[in-house]
Amino acid sequence: MVDDDFMNNSHAHLSVPDEFYMELALAEAKGAAAKGEVPVGAVVVWQQEVIGRGCNRREERQNALCHAEVLAIEAASSRLQSWRLTDCDIYVTLEPCIMCVGAILQARMRRLVFGCLDPKAGAVESLYRLCDDERLNHRLPATGGVMATDCAFLLADFFRRLRHQKNHVQTAERWPSPVEGA
Ligand SMILES: [Zn+2]
Repeated sequence: MVDDDFMNNSHAHLSVPDEFYMELALAEAKGAAAKGEVPVGAVVVWQQEVIGRGCNRREERQNALCHAEVLAIEAASSRLQSWRLTDCDIYVTLEPCIMCVGAILQARMRRLVFGCLDPKAGAVESLYRLCDDERLNHRLPATGGVMATDCAFLLADFFRRLRHQKNHVQTAERWPSPVEGA
């Protein structure tokens, strides 16, 4: 009885730490890596519930729009039957690009949480600061650096493996095996 009471009255009101949802976004990213996609994952959260998930599918779909954030937003909008995701937060493993910050702003989302920085394309801190650009009519509170080490490791590991594979292929091309030459 005491435990039930504790759960009902106290736990239900505790906010869920950002790391909890970032773990889920990381799981999405790992799924992308397994399919040979650059590992970026995202989840959209509404009232503490995940209502949209997405991972980078650019290669699979051969579509430049298929970033993790866009797919997660698409899923969330379809779930809520609304393009307005006003009370939703998005968690993404990598600092979003121009397109994705644009999509998050368009969806009027409440908050953005991301993992590691993207020095080459990030539009929150690295290259642009779209979340607090006063010329836009929507402000987007953003928190970066959540589980940044894990998010960055996943990307670094993916590219390290890719380079290794490429070297392997190049080596094989330079020195064809005697069997193939026979
Ligand atoms: Zn993007």
